[in-house]
Amino acid sequence: VTIGEALRDAAARYGEGDAIVSVFQGQRLTYAELDRDADRVAGALIAMGIRKGDRIAIWSANKIEWLVAHHGAVRVGAVVVTVNPALRQEEARHVLADSGSRLVFAARAFRGYSFVSALENMRSALSDLEEIIYFDFDDTGSDWFEFLNRSPQNRRRVEEAEGRVSPDDPCSLQYTSGTTGRPKGALLTHRNILNNGHFVGERQKLTSADRICLPVPFFHCFGLVLGALAAMTHGSAIVLPGESFDPESTFDTIRRERCTSFYGVPTMYISLLTHEAVHQADFSTLRTGCMGGAPCPIETMRQAVERMNMREITVTYGMTETSPISFQTLPDDSNERRVTTVGTVHPHIEARIIDPQSGQTVERGVSGELCIRGYSVMPGYWRNPGSTSEAIDEDGWMHTGDLATMTSDGYLQIVGRSKNTIIRGGENIYPREIEEFLLTMPEVAEAYVFGLPDAKYGEEVCSWIKLRAGANMTAEQLKARCKGRIATFKIPRHVRLVDAFPTTASGKVQYFRMREAELELTR
Ligand code: ATP
Ligand code: MG
Repeated sequence: VTIGEALRDAAARYGEGDAIVSVFQGQRLTYAELDRDADRVAGALIAMGIRKGDRIAIWSANKIEWLVAHHGAVRVGAVVVTVNPALRQEEARHVLADSGSRLVFAARAFRGYSFVSALENMRSALSDLEEIIYFDFDDTGSDWFEFLNRSPQNRRRVEEAEGRVSPDDPCSLQYTSGTTGRPKGALLTHRNILNNGHFVGERQKLTSADRICLPVPFFHCFGLVLGALAAMTHGSAIVLPGESFDPESTFDTIRRERCTSFYGVPTMYISLLTHEAVHQADFSTLRTGCMGGAPCPIETMRQAVERMNMREITVTYGMTETSPISFQTLPDDSNERRVTTVGTVHPHIEARIIDPQSGQTVERGVSGELCIRGYSVMPGYWRNPGSTSEAIDEDGWMHTGDLATMTSDGYLQIVGRSKNTIIRGGENIYPREIEEFLLTMPEVAEAYVFGLPDAKYGEEVCSWIKLRAGANMTAEQLKARCKGRIATFKIPRHVRLVDAFPTTASGKVQYFRMREAELELTR
């Protein structure tokens, strides 16, 4: 089925149940209401001549309107271009031009940055752009409500358009996080993401009683697929605590909306667990949730399970190009499993680990590049056959660029990214291993390790460290503490103590930016 049909199904089965609750907007929609509003959007899109395959961009932080616009657009076969609200004018212009978007749904602003002026400035340079619909009110009223009411009696035409959409049509154009460089546009189909959402929900045993606190953004697969689509296929509710993550609104949302599930990247869990208000927070309703996107320190996992009461928390591994999830832990896996592995493979997905040189499958326990094949692999990067054929081979295997090993009982361990591996004097060093060691020091709250060019060794180990509140340690003391406990060549030569790290809008740490900043600072 298509996403549009799956929403009709959810409306029929769970019509009165909450589909989305926006705590910070003070609004909520049931599945019946979401389906009805998606029809209104779809009707207005048909009236403006939007056809199957046309691109429609959404440039906004999480809001109810985001999801409504999305469901209306995919219902008529449009491809939703999900634009990160942290982008600035030039970056957004690139995405809108590259995708050839005919319509943009946008917030008026995000964190003080005006999308209205950015869009007005770039408008004349965007030849495909016909209309901009702002979600929020201003003195002239609301485009959004006018748009919703543009074409009230269009149900029959919507159903006709919906009938022409098939599961293998593209519905989503998502740009990767940009942790390793410039984001790439991954084109995803209804079959890709709807099924992936379904299987993620299955693994968490979601039901219509579940309410997912979702601070991760819809523009990325984590929010849209693991969040909105996993919820929709199980009748669960999405609960939005705010436009972007902050610990206090998260605590408040979980308590007020009696959330049973919470999603975040490890850094979000760390911010919650180290926040002073965590002592007053009420996590008694929580049961499950997802943690993914990056490796998690063991202490954070232990506290997520014990203090946040997330006894069935699952760790997810995936990438935008595979819709995204291919591995996920099981609800009753141990904490040890949850931090040393990313779980077992999802149904209907094949995985293999190859020797990057020979391309041969390696033995269990030996590390190599993870490759994925199955329904979830994207058809390709948008208008980029070169990158597509580099990433997906003739047999349909997506080469992930992640280094991994498979345990004898089928659990996947992520060793690092092939791009991040530090090669120092011919020795391969995996940053993750050093990060885990640094995190065993009680003073260290967060630690990231990366390579810097070095005249003698080719690359040297560098680390950025955030200390715990109140902790006192110098970079030299930290290095001294490594001596004798890890191999000398792995001890970071350069250590910088920082208060914050460069992250993507979805909260993932950007190693390449730390590397750039370090090069700037040491030049
Ligand atoms: P870009 O491709 O633009 O550099 P990105 O790869 O970070 O950005 P995403 O598709 O959002 O963009 O992230 C997928 C990557 O995140 C994976 O390839 C993997 O390296 C990492 N990742 C995802 N889940 C986990 C996890 N549970 N543990 C460790 N790493 C993970
Ligand atoms: Mg990637």
